[in-house]
Amino acid sequence: MGKIISIFNQKGGVGKTTTVINLAAALGKLDKKVLIVDIDPQGNATSGLGIDKNNLELSLYDGLINKVQLKGIVQNTSAENVDIIPSNVELAGAEIELISMEDRELALKNALSGIQEYYDLILVDCPPSLGLLSINGLSASNSVIVPIQCEYYALEGVSQLVDTIMLVKRSLNPDLEIEGVILSMFDGRTNLSIQVVEEVKKYFKGKVYTSIIPRNVRLAEAPSYGLSVLDYDPKSKGAEAYVELAEEFLYLSE
Ligand code: ADP
Ligand code: MG
Repeated sequence: MGKIISIFNQKGGVGKTTTVINLAAALGKLDKKVLIVDIDPQGNATSGLGIDKNNLELSLYDGLINKVQLKGIVQNTSAENVDIIPSNVELAGAEIELISMEDRELALKNALSGIQEYYDLILVDCPPSLGLLSINGLSASNSVIVPIQCEYYALEGVSQLVDTIMLVKRSLNPDLEIEGVILSMFDGRTNLSIQVVEEVKKYFKGKVYTSIIPRNVRLAEAPSYGLSVLDYDPKSKGAEAYVELAEEFLYLSE
């Protein structure tokens, strides 16, 4: 059964989607079968891997609300060994429609049970909010990876983030753990980045990956070509960093 991991931080722009796409692609190249579940109505993971999000016949919305089997929704992506349950803006409606459903916090978990066995790893790309979609991601997951941007106020909102994980752990998913913390958009030329690394390591004692993701323009360019950075520019610093992170992740989790 594939391990399910939410990539979660309620702040936008911290590198969640970039991490989902490129960690998945790196794990795929290391021969893991990976499924991405795009639970962000912005659909950036979907479009970033070469799928036209505005012309989806079926999307995660149909899986959550109309109970369509995910096996019939899943698509291949441009990345080797990486499939995706795609999403688009339609999913924003699910946040509201779920409220009146009986299994509203567990809809994703239930949907994934029909497809989990076909993958080694399932990465859930969470939206930038603490709403019902994120709660569904956390309820369905074995663990959480938190990306943190090396910027001013990096730790702002982190206590709320940890509270949310603990709330879900207490009420819905007792086995939920923080798998690891990824420092993203690191700029080694600034004291600020270096300070943030120290602060985050102090806060998350022992949970922070040694592989740090640098700020790298190739990472920002790749999605507009529908490619992971590993396929767009495999020799870039960004690609190297995500390969290293994938190796560290596998080493620590196996
Ligand atoms: P989130 O999913 O948390 O909102 P994204 O992964 O979409 O964040 O990243 C926000 C923006 O920053 C995007 O435009 C993305 O291309 C860019 N970005 C993310 N990580 C990096 C990085 N390491 N170096 C340069 N740009 C990055
Ligand atoms: Mg995102």
